[in-house]
Amino acid sequence: MSRVKVDPYRSEPEMAPPLSERFCNWCDGPLPRGKARYCSEQCKKDWQSFITAFGKRIAPWLLITRAQRPRTGKEAGPAYSKAQNRVRDMTDETLSRLRTAQRRATGGR
Ligand SMILES: [Zn+2]
Repeated sequence: MSRVKVDPYRSEPEMAPPLSERFCNWCDGPLPRGKARYCSEQCKKDWQSFITAFGKRIAPWLLITRAQRPRTGKEAGPAYSKAQNRVRDMTDETLSRLRTAQRRATGGR
């Protein structure tokens, strides 16, 4: 069996908007002038490894929510609700842990 390569976004840089307009995505510290997402190179590296690991966990569930979403006049696939709940729970839990870690790091800004 040959390997399938189907990632059309592989060559695109990360262009998602920052979590906040004024604070670092990773440590939640204030952004220096001219910086849009991270306050330092270390925060950028830490954020990127975090998002890579989180992406691997959540991506299959995200794809299921799109592949099995309800279409007009048809029912959603059997895995749709489970995947939708899983995406919500993983996102909520991850944001909560991230904010707790940020509060600890910034002394509860
Ligand atoms: Zn930072």
